[in-house]
Formats: sequence, structure tokens, C-alpha cells
Amino acid sequence: MIRDFIFTAQPSRVVFGRGSLQRLAQEVQALGARRALVLCTPQQVEIAETASALLGEASAGVFGGAEMHVPIESARLARQYASKVGADCAIAIGGGSTVGLGKAIALESGLPIVAVPTTYAGSEMTPIYGITEDGVKKTGRDLRVLPRTVLYDPELSAHLPVPMSVVSGINAIAHAAEGLYAQDGNPVMSLMAEEGIRALARGLRGIQGAAADISSRTDCLYGAWLCGSVLGHVGMALHHKLCHTLGGSFNLPHAETHTVVLPHALAYNAPAAPNAIERIAAALGAMDAATGVFDLARELGAPTALRDIGMPRDGLGRVLELALANPYWNPRALEADALARLLDQAWSGERPEGRV
Ligand code: NAD
Repeated sequence: MIRDFIFTAQPSRVVFGRGSLQRLAQEVQALGARRALVLCTPQQVEIAETASALLGEASAGVFGGAEMHVPIESARLARQYASKVGADCAIAIGGGSTVGLGKAIALESGLPIVAVPTTYAGSEMTPIYGITEDGVKKTGRDLRVLPRTVLYDPELSAHLPVPMSVVSGINAIAHAAEGLYAQDGNPVMSLMAEEGIRALARGLRGIQGAAADISSRTDCLYGAWLCGSVLGHVGMALHHKLCHTLGGSFNLPHAETHTVVLPHALAYNAPAAPNAIERIAAALGAMDAATGVFDLARELGAPTALRDIGMPRDGLGRVLELALANPYWNPRALEADALARLLDQAWSGERPEGRV
């Protein structure tokens, strides 16, 4: 039976397709902007220069200072630079870190952001921002930071190394999986979540041994769009909370942490969200959601244990404490003993118990 729901769609324009980067100047113009600053990480200056060249006279240059977790210092530098060059728009070309820098600029200045994602993290579809100050990452929601236009060009992620693609794709699957049992979920987001998981599972398998296969890359990016939209529209739960805590307190790599934790969070929530769990499993083509994600990660050579991505065992107690400290909604109540077991299993990389 369909539950009652409220669905507020968020305003963003999506241009999806091979070669869509070529439309950059047109899309900037459509926003009424005349001088766009291109943002990137130091590793992606080349593609940013290409974007800048496509803009021609409408380019205000390239700012290559995007960094993981958006340190406030880099946000300040980028804001000052944008103002110095008279930018009236920012183009974020890259992964979640670069989109995050664009959001930090938009939060203060209201500049419209055009995002050109080159990973599958999904930040481009959300009004969620994060800025790190004195070692603490503060996050918030503000529609001003939602990119106004997103250009999804599968050619740009064709050279994202396969191991990074796999963890980035499973990071995206995590948004969709939690979206399926979200307290404020709705039927439209659930359809997008299922299709996103299906497309990513197919695409990630497809790039094994054929890394630049454009049809598989298109599947991955299509899945990333769907999963990112789910993240932007509905609330997340235990899995995202645990990953935020692990990443923030122990500086663990973002996408890898999501990849390791997701099967265990799903196993924990399975008794309280049977319908969502069935839909996740079906989308993965597996018998069960938790073991389905775990087996997918293992099949694709991704990490499956927190101990392998830098988590000290003696830090698990602190993670548990933090996870229990600020209550938040989750389909299953937060039970200290069961959560301690979850963290232990995730740390050692044990295959979770499925429901079948
Ligand atoms: P990232 O943006 O940190 O990128 C990792 C590295 O990969 C960078 O050096 C980048 O330059 C490089 N890279 C990106 N695309 C590439 C490509 N196609 N080829 C080669 N190298 C490439 O990683 P991410 O996983 O995309 O983003 C993680 C960050 O995004 C985290 O800080 C996370 O909190 C944030 N995030 C935010 C949201 C949100 O809604 N606010 C959603 C998801 C992720």
C-alpha cells in the first residue's frame, strides 16, 4: 500500500549525455552569467583548463585549490579569488570535494553553480554543504548551494581509475539504499533509488576489464544522478551517520568508508525495513541486500574491512559513543550492543548475516 507522503521537488536543471561538456558556454549564458570561474582540485587542472577554453570570453579563469572536506581556509581563498576576478558564476568540475568548494562559495555569495561531476558521489544534486573548521566538519542544508545546472558527461569519468569508480559507485548506492527506508521517503524517490542501484551495479560490473567502456560509464553516471537526487530529497539514517563519524573523527577515506559500512548498516536495519531491503536486493540482483552489497564489493575488489582503510580497533568505542550521542531517526532503534557488534564486524570485514 502507498504510504501518505509529501514531496518537494528541488529546482535543478540536468543535462545528461556524452559530450554534454560542449554545452558549457550555452548553459552559463542561460543562467544570465558573463564571467564564470572554473573550480577544480590540483589533480584536475587539465580538464578545468579545457572547460575554461570552452567558455572563451565568459571564463574568469581557473581556481585549482579544491581540497577534501572543504577546509574553511580554501573556501575563504576561493571566495576572495571569485570576488577579485569579478565572477558571477562558478563551474565546479570534479568530484564531491570540488562541488563542495562551489557550494561554500554559493553559501556566502549566492553565485549560481554549474556542476560537472567526474565521480559518482552525488553532491551535485543536493543542497547539503560541509565546511571544515578547526578539524570539525560542519554540515548544513541551504537551497542556495544547490547547483543550478548539472552537466553529466560520461566521457569525463571514463578515466576515473576503476578502484575509485567502484567505491564511488557504492557510495552512491548507499544514498539510494537509505533513501528506500527514509522516514520522509516517497514513491518517486524510491523508484529513482531502485533504478539507481540497478544502473550502478550493472555499470560497475561493466567497467571491470573495460574501464573506458562508454556504455557502462553511462550506466554508472546515470545511477549516480539518480542516487544523488535521492540523497538531496530525503533524509539519511544510521549508515550515513556512522560514515560521517568515522570519516570526521578518524580521517578515513570517504567512499571507501561507505563501501565497507553499508552491508553492515543494512543488516542492522533489515528487521525494521523489510520492504526496502527486498527492493535493494532485487535491484542488486541478489537474494539479500546486506550480503548483496558485500558480495558486490568483494567481486569488484573493493575494501570490505575498516581495518584495511586505516581504522584503529581501539577507536571503535569512540565511534559507538558518538553514534549514540545525538539521537537521529533510524528505522531500527539504536541498540548499543548490536551497534558494537556491527562496528566489530565492519572492522574485521566479516560477511554480514543476510535475511535468507
Ligand atoms: P573527491 O572529490 O575528493 O575526489 C577524489 C580525487 O579524485 C581528487 O583528487 C579528484 O581530483 C580526483 N578525481 C575526481 N574525478 C576524477 C576523474 N574522473 N579522473 C581522475 N581523478 C579524478 O572524491 P568524491 O568521493 O567525489 O567526494 C568526496 C567528498 O564529497 C567528501 O568530502 C564528501 O563528504 C563529499 N560529498 C558531499 C555530498 C553532499 O551532498 N554534500 C555528497 C557526497 C559526497
